[in-house]
Amino acid sequence: MLRRFRSLNSIAVTATHFAIILLIILCGDVDSLYDGNTDRGLYVLTEESFNPTVYRHIGPNRELRTESNLWIVQFYNSWCGHCIKFSPIYKALANRTQHWSAYLKLGVVNCADDLNRDLCTRFGIRQTPVLRLLTTGSHPANKGEDVEVRHSTTNLLQTVLDVMEYQRTPRELQPLPEQRVGELWASLPRSVNEVAVIVEPIGSHVGKEALLHALPNLHAIALRRAHNNNRALLDSLNVNERTTFVMFLDRLHPDEKGLVTLESLSRNSDPVAVFTNAIIRADTELTTRLRIQRRPQLGPVYGDTTSPAVRRPMQMQVHSASSFTLSVQTAVSGQDLNSAVLYSLSNEIARHNDITGREYETLKAYVTGLIKWVPVRPATLTALRILETSLRRGNGITGAEVTRLLRASNLNVDSGAIEWDHCKGSVPDRRGYPCGLWQIIHTMSVRAYEAGLLSAATVESNALAANGVLTAVIGYVEHFFSCGECSRNFMKGVASLRRNQVVVSNADAVLFLWRAHNNANRFLAGDLSEDPAHPKQQFPTLVQCLDCRNSADPQAQTIVWNEGNVLRFLREFYGAKRSAGATFVLE
Ligand SMILES: Cc1cc2nc3c(=O)[nH]c(=O)nc-3n(C[C@H](O)[C@H](O)[C@H](O)COP(=O)(O)OP(=O)(O)OC[C@H]3O[C@@H](n4cnc5c(N)ncnc54)[C@H](O)[C@@H]3O)c2cc1C
Repeated sequence: MLRRFRSLNSIAVTATHFAIILLIILCGDVDSLYDGNTDRGLYVLTEESFNPTVYRHIGPNRELRTESNLWIVQFYNSWCGHCIKFSPIYKALANRTQHWSAYLKLGVVNCADDLNRDLCTRFGIRQTPVLRLLTTGSHPANKGEDVEVRHSTTNLLQTVLDVMEYQRTPRELQPLPEQRVGELWASLPRSVNEVAVIVEPIGSHVGKEALLHALPNLHAIALRRAHNNNRALLDSLNVNERTTFVMFLDRLHPDEKGLVTLESLSRNSDPVAVFTNAIIRADTELTTRLRIQRRPQLGPVYGDTTSPAVRRPMQMQVHSASSFTLSVQTAVSGQDLNSAVLYSLSNEIARHNDITGREYETLKAYVTGLIKWVPVRPATLTALRILETSLRRGNGITGAEVTRLLRASNLNVDSGAIEWDHCKGSVPDRRGYPCGLWQIIHTMSVRAYEAGLLSAATVESNALAANGVLTAVIGYVEHFFSCGECSRNFMKGVASLRRNQVVVSNADAVLFLWRAHNNANRFLAGDLSEDPAHPKQQFPTLVQCLDCRNSADPQAQTIVWNEGNVLRFLREFYGAKRSAGATFVLE
């Protein structure tokens, strides 16, 4: 009986474990822009797996590893539009470099995932996407160096190739010094009798890439790289060629050198593929001649156009907006506001190591603005008040202290507590927090405007309140919004709007932010980050407010707004007095 109870118990435990694991897997999938199983060449890293995977000192057989390979790790937020747009570029890079794993590995960390919160804070990640260069075998305290985020696969690949050359990983990427051919042979092991040298101009990336594709597949010939201004080497070989080419040299037959040049290629051929394949073919012939046992090839080499690795299309979702029913929202949702405040406190403000100076002043204004103008749940309000009191007392605060204050006020900031209502995306990784942050921004400005109307304030004090709200929300986006590119775009938009509009009243502040948001909507319409069920439109739409536009023609290129009616509509949507049918429920 006892045994039966035990076994039932263990089944229950196993089932619970299974359910938890399943939940973790499912949650991971929902939150992540990347899938370690299907995205070739990519490691999906977490707080738990990061150190053992990236900073491995001990190998599988408990041996001390001495290898020093490179890692490029992308820290991203799955909700961030620029991270969404960058993901096909990064996946394409991983696909293209997947066989270079002996020298370079690519990883991703989703900072929007609760489980990675401490990891992202440790790396000082404030605005995403961020690419960090790390070295296997270095100390885990090492935060790495930033690598520029480029917006095309070609440019990103070139940056990565330059980084690898600079890091001398692998050392064959280093161009040969000015030396005669005799010195080249002297620098190679005595057993090596054939060498392929890729020659290319400074700044070219063709040779570097071909070298990396070919190198892991070579058994008999050595591979080196030289610049085409290496006169000592080329003159000693009597080679006049000056563009990009590969030369094959034989120690035992110095007069027999082979050249593969760009001129010998047909117009449509890809030089990287041609050079790579020429080198591998030469190596195959030599190993056959020498009867060397070849390792199986590492997979289809780049340029083998029949291989699925090269042909695989980028995984982009094709949206068909017509297959969705568009819902008409009539008012801001309390749940979205509350969730956005929780997220901004726990995943943005608390991520900063030290908050001082202008950032500190911005934070004070933002927290005060939230308390005054943004309706949130009682527990959230209590936490905000505790934070505000602490901010009033000092002149600096750390993210760790913010986290401590949130915990002390018993606020649940786990992702389970952050749920989206109107801001919920129809597909994973769309909407959510950025939608919620816009809702905070507009609610704050509209409610400050309404309060000014009620208090019969003078024009001067109105202007003060308007500028206070503007400073708080613009400052927040500049210093704390973790989508880096969004923050920079927003600040550019604000600067250009400021050239045409002076904010002298609270109403001006409301319309200023409404315009800034509509400019973002115009810029992002049809973007990869768009939710198919919520296409970016000029707001309010015709359906939401017919008399907000002076022309009711939906095809009109330029909308002529009736700003008085827009202001009235924004009050109905974001203001304290809810419009009919609004779903603004707070306990
Ligand atoms: C400050 C800021 C800057 C951003 N910059 C970028 C960027 O550069 N690149 C990028 O890819 N993403 C950017 N984003 C994200 C992007 O603007 C959207 O928030 C995101 O794509 C989610 O879109 P959404 O469909 O939820 O609608 P959102 O644009 O987030 O809008 C949310 C809700 O606000 C209401 N709304 C829409 N327009 C207005 C308006 N003009 N005035 C008042 N209310 C309105 C609507 O009810 C809408 O459903 C930014 C976000 C913020 C907060």
